[in-house]
Amino acid sequence: MMKNDQLDQWDRENFFHPSTHLAKHARGETPARVVTGGSGVYIEDRDGTKLLDAFAGLYCVNVGYGRTEIADAIAAQAHELAYYHSYVGTGTEASITLAKMVIDRAPANMSKVYFGLGGSDANETNVKLLWYYNNVLGRPEKKKIISRWRGYHGSGLVTGSLTGLELFHKKFDLPLAQVVHTQAPYYFRRDDLDMSEADFVQDCVDKLQALIAREGPDTIAGFIGEPVLGTGGIVPPPQGYWDAIQAVLKEHDILLIADEVVTGFGRTGSMMGSTHYGMEPDIITIAKGLTSAYAPLSGSIVSDKVWRVLEQGTDEFGPIGHGWTYSAHPIGAAAGVANLKLIDDLNLIENNVSTGGYLRQRLNEELGDHPNVGDIRGVGMLAAIEFVEKKDGRQFFDPKTAVGPAVATGLASRGVIGRAMPQGDILGFAPPFCLSKDEADIIASATGAAVRDVF
Ligand code: PLP
Repeated sequence: MMKNDQLDQWDRENFFHPSTHLAKHARGETPARVVTGGSGVYIEDRDGTKLLDAFAGLYCVNVGYGRTEIADAIAAQAHELAYYHSYVGTGTEASITLAKMVIDRAPANMSKVYFGLGGSDANETNVKLLWYYNNVLGRPEKKKIISRWRGYHGSGLVTGSLTGLELFHKKFDLPLAQVVHTQAPYYFRRDDLDMSEADFVQDCVDKLQALIAREGPDTIAGFIGEPVLGTGGIVPPPQGYWDAIQAVLKEHDILLIADEVVTGFGRTGSMMGSTHYGMEPDIITIAKGLTSAYAPLSGSIVSDKVWRVLEQGTDEFGPIGHGWTYSAHPIGAAAGVANLKLIDDLNLIENNVSTGGYLRQRLNEELGDHPNVGDIRGVGMLAAIEFVEKKDGRQFFDPKTAVGPAVATGLASRGVIGRAMPQGDILGFAPPFCLSKDEADIIASATGAAVRDVF
């Protein structure tokens, strides 16, 4: 085992960490955690500290840590055939089997899945597919994509543009001109406190209609949204939101991309977030939950309607000019097959409904009356606490106050990992699906104590 100070030096000198304050880390001002193991809902670091990971890594280790079924499937695949590509109609048993398993779990109108590596590249693929689709249909002007403020769709050039969080645009010259943003379906943050939920949904519709009218419907190819806003604050949509938005999209022939990188394969308590909220997407993005992060793999699930146009395109223009070396990598595919099987065999989605609901109930018992807790919300195995300066009149903290990170730090010192969401005043939970009620109790009481320490 490497000496700790040696590792710390290499880390500071050589490792460019994502989403990190680079200068502070290089100066050794941020605590460096080196994670060495994991089992169930717990991770362990090099000092032997065990932490209950109530965010499942980055809401991705859905079946929990240490699943030998998936590790064995990966090892068996690596021994048998570590790699072969999937270009020009080639496949492996694992990738073809996984494609069938994904389509069996997707809404009925979906028939094909293209495999990538992560959520960002899958959304990149999705935007290209919509552009190709409209070019084949002879509508070269119909290219813009509408996204929502507070949406998160990745951090590439197009996907960072789709992401509606300023942090991901700042100093990167984003968003690109092809992306326009509309209001987030975030009822708790509505401007007018007296507005009913139904009126707020109508307001979202009106703002979307105004944006479409301003840009011109003939210039807009697609609308992308997470069934439940994730990184933007873990916000389930207000009642009736998706029905109302889809009616507008249909009226203007705008295709819907449901970004299910977080919600796909059970997190909402339904197999797919789309079906949970009655969405009828044309394309679905999947990643994290596809393999529970045991190997990198993502997918773009495509509806029959889109697929028929793609086929027509290749008949007219030749093979589709899109593909990665690692598309449908057999090791990722083997992990995916074992992971989806485990989710079924252990009835983990049912546990998301019962234990996820129990977690929110316990958080409410601990903190529902706290004067700085404005909202406790979630669905399935997702929960968030939003802090407010004053509950009466819903007065928000200045984002610079960063109360979320303060609570998250206190929580970690009590042995539980929650995530301070990028806005600064929201603490998020997305535990592995195997969370037990006893473990939910641990999260809730540690959170109660951590919040009372800060306020
Ligand atoms: N879409 C959503 C909804 C996400 O939450 C994320 C990542 O958190 C992404 C896309 C990007 O995925 P990746 O980080 O694998 O590129």
